[in-house]
Amino acid sequence: MASGGMAGSVDVTVRGAGIFGLSCAWACVQRGARVHVVDPFGPGAGSSGGVVGALAPHVPENWNDKKAFQLDSLLMAEAFWAEVEATGGVTAGYARSGRLQPLADEAAVALARGREATAAELWQGQASWQVVAATGAAFEPASPTGLLIHDTLTARMHPRRACAALVAALAARGVEVMAEAPDEGAVIWATGAAGLEEMSREADRQVGVPIKGQAALLRFDAGAVPQVFAGGVHVVPHADGTVAVGSTSEREFEGLGTDDQLDAVIEAARVAVPVLRGAEVIDRWAGLRPRARSRAPMLGVWPGRKGHYIANGGFKIGFGMGPKVGAVMADLVLEGTDAIPEGFRAEALF
Ligand SMILES: Cc1cc2nc3c(=O)[nH]c(=O)nc-3n(C[C@H](O)[C@H](O)[C@H](O)COP(=O)(O)OP(=O)(O)OC[C@H]3O[C@@H](n4cnc5c(N)ncnc54)[C@H](O)[C@@H]3O)c2cc1C
Repeated sequence: MASGGMAGSVDVTVRGAGIFGLSCAWACVQRGARVHVVDPFGPGAGSSGGVVGALAPHVPENWNDKKAFQLDSLLMAEAFWAEVEATGGVTAGYARSGRLQPLADEAAVALARGREATAAELWQGQASWQVVAATGAAFEPASPTGLLIHDTLTARMHPRRACAALVAALAARGVEVMAEAPDEGAVIWATGAAGLEEMSREADRQVGVPIKGQAALLRFDAGAVPQVFAGGVHVVPHADGTVAVGSTSEREFEGLGTDDQLDAVIEAARVAVPVLRGAEVIDRWAGLRPRARSRAPMLGVWPGRKGHYIANGGFKIGFGMGPKVGAVMADLVLEGTDAIPEGFRAEALF
């Protein structure tokens, strides 16, 4: 153990069973560690229990170690979810089905064409970003120029199902999510928005804040088509005959209900993809995204708490980051190897 390990029967206690905690637990179990996962509210009770699941890349330009980290994670996802599903027998609904974005005018087309070349270079031939002509297919966004960006890196999975898939895979390896357990071994705090509040109190400064998001699920079987990002809204066809639409982004809010801001998102999705006009809304959901002050993932040691670690700050891309976050946290906690990008360091926020 890097630090804090006790000679007990447990190597790592993970607190929080959202996508970060479950991914860390899974990565540690895969390396042979004995792991406890503790969440008093149950798996997926926080922002990971949602419906959207767009695993979308940053724009391929102005490269930095954060974008490289995200690229790695997105490229790891296919094998990661395949192994989780094979182990636990529960599907996460993962598919690298790509994404379409409309191009509003000639300036947008020129920008997008420039990114064709940078994507080819920065994505190392592993995925493409191309300007394509709209075909008039039912699940395409309307585009004023008749042109769309099609990228083949974007994937989707079903957040709620993905949590269930990880819980099943962990259970198959003998790890159950518990409501309560003492700290044993190294402790990884993956407690999302509640964790940011606790850290802010301890640091006596704002480490991060919750950002509320609302999303909805529509009954519509789109088949295996790319998701759409248009008008600021994600429209994500899932494998189970539903289409997710999201999301609001709210700094000020009262409670976790859904309201007319979600109605506006649903309407924007129907404008972008008119075939959704008649689709019934079957779920309305809201959650609190954990946003670190850096707006980046927040990973590493918890300063002043020996043997305690932090995996937080998933903000809008927690599901896309899960596989790599689990890997670097297992490196750090089990092997003392620190592969965390500079801009992701938890210590810097205290
Ligand atoms: C509307 C919406 C849409 C989104 N869309 C996307 C998307 O398309 N793609 C994407 O990648 N991301 C998306 N996100 C972001 C993503 O959901 C988050 O980044 C991610 O869920 C964060 O995971 P987490 O495990 O850090 O936190 P959480 O899922 O919040 O997990 C924290 C867990 O800690 C538990 N907990 C709290 N206190 C304690 C304690 N003291 N001890 C133990 N456990 C505790 C909670 O019960 C909870 O289960 C979206 C978020 C929202 C709200």
